[in-house]
Amino acid sequence: VQAEIGLIGLGTMGSNLALNIAEKGHTIAVFNRTVSRVDEFKAQAGALADRIIPCHSIEELAAAIRPPRPIILMVVAGKPVDDQIAMLRKVLSPNDIIIDAGNADFNDTRRRFAELEGTGITFIGMGVSGGEEGARHGPSIMVGGTEESWHRVEDVITAISAKYKGEPCAAWLGPDGAGHFVKTIHNGIEYADMQMIAEIYGVLRDGLGMSAKEIAPVFAKWNEGRLNSYLIEITAKVLEIDDPKTGKPIVDVIVDRAGQKGTGKWSAIEAQKLGVPATAIEAAVAARVISSMKTEREAAQKVYGPATGNIKGDKAKLFHDLELALFAGKIAAYAQGFAVMDAASKEFSWNIPLATVSKIWRAGCIIRSQFLGTIAEAFSKGPVTNLLMAPAFIEMMKEAHPSLRRIVAIAAEAGLPVPALSAALAYFDGYRQARGTSNLIQAQRDFFGAHGFERIGEEGAHHGPWGDYS
Ligand code: NDP
Repeated sequence: VQAEIGLIGLGTMGSNLALNIAEKGHTIAVFNRTVSRVDEFKAQAGALADRIIPCHSIEELAAAIRPPRPIILMVVAGKPVDDQIAMLRKVLSPNDIIIDAGNADFNDTRRRFAELEGTGITFIGMGVSGGEEGARHGPSIMVGGTEESWHRVEDVITAISAKYKGEPCAAWLGPDGAGHFVKTIHNGIEYADMQMIAEIYGVLRDGLGMSAKEIAPVFAKWNEGRLNSYLIEITAKVLEIDDPKTGKPIVDVIVDRAGQKGTGKWSAIEAQKLGVPATAIEAAVAARVISSMKTEREAAQKVYGPATGNIKGDKAKLFHDLELALFAGKIAAYAQGFAVMDAASKEFSWNIPLATVSKIWRAGCIIRSQFLGTIAEAFSKGPVTNLLMAPAFIEMMKEAHPSLRRIVAIAAEAGLPVPALSAALAYFDGYRQARGTSNLIQAQRDFFGAHGFERIGEEGAHHGPWGDYS
């Protein structure tokens, strides 16, 4: 029996994806750098073992798959992907397809497309979201490549993807790097979502002195309303769970230093390159960086003293404001993320269907939520300049932004950092301000550098009457 598909990289994601593929009835050939892992994997595959062909070399892998061979790479992003492609090139034939399913930088994906052009081997850059559980039972899958190559793998990819009310959460989003770009922005938005949730948790913990056990039901309740989402749901769960070793809430024994692997930073970098403000995402990335500066933070707290905390006032009103503040922040962060994708789509001529992006994020991925359905509806109705200007969002933002304002003000007063929420608020205030303050910046630029400025109601470039002052 020859396999229909192959997979290299039996780590967390790869092994779960392979089991998912086998479960959907496909025979899959697998290979891993640490070769002993392949037999171990088959031995642990239980009832699915019959559909798994363990291969001990790249040659064996190629021989085990029926041509034209689709081969999924699920290895650490970066050089390992290039190394595996180089090895595959020696054993593959024209019409075979290499599918990079890791979290690649889309710039690398574009380069790999160019490098494989003319070899006859097809390349697909595929973003997969949903963590271990998603990979095993149905992730959200964002595909970039030629449309023809997508049709060749569409059946298996849609079969293994998550389903939202029966609709597969997998789609072809455009040529070359489109899939990996969308996955990167997905992760950037995920950073902002998680950071804003953590900021609200901080207000509850340090401003209101609530324990993890007291905070958990607040999130659980919010999960039943407009904030309904996987991340809010797991936040409530995580806050409930105790550490078996100490009996304390587990969050209270975890060091406050956040890890990151790069996709958040890439989102911020690409947004900057495209000239799109993605300040909530940038703030979330920066907050993880500050979190890693634990020793410096400890020293600084000794010098400046801790936050005063101690927020007073009507609790019911405050909780209502916190819920709406998080919602308003979320709207701004998603508006930014979608604006970045829209700009990239134009820059690289990808033609990314943004309604489809929001639809395939409704299930399987980490940022899945009810809210994405509303975004999908907004994009389905026609072009959206910015989510903040889509009718449904105008209504929601009008209701929510006063709460965001109050929470940012309260937090600032209490000395509690809410960088992503503040960035979201500043973005909103800047976006809705018809006359901003850059007239002064233009005057300064002209004063010191003769850069010129536009005059209200007049054509052409003008200079100021700086005379002897400049
Ligand atoms: P793991 O660390 O669990 O597994 C990494 C895999 O890559 C292993 O099979 C490893 O082989 C292989 N590998 C590492 N270096 C090399 C190399 N130089 N040459 C060949 N193979 C190599 O990682 P994950 O499964 O978590 O992640 C895989 C990819 O999926 C990454 O791009 C990640 O960003 C992405 N991803 C991860 C998610 C998650 O939630 N974990 C979610 C979505 C995407 P060996 O056994 O020999 O070490």
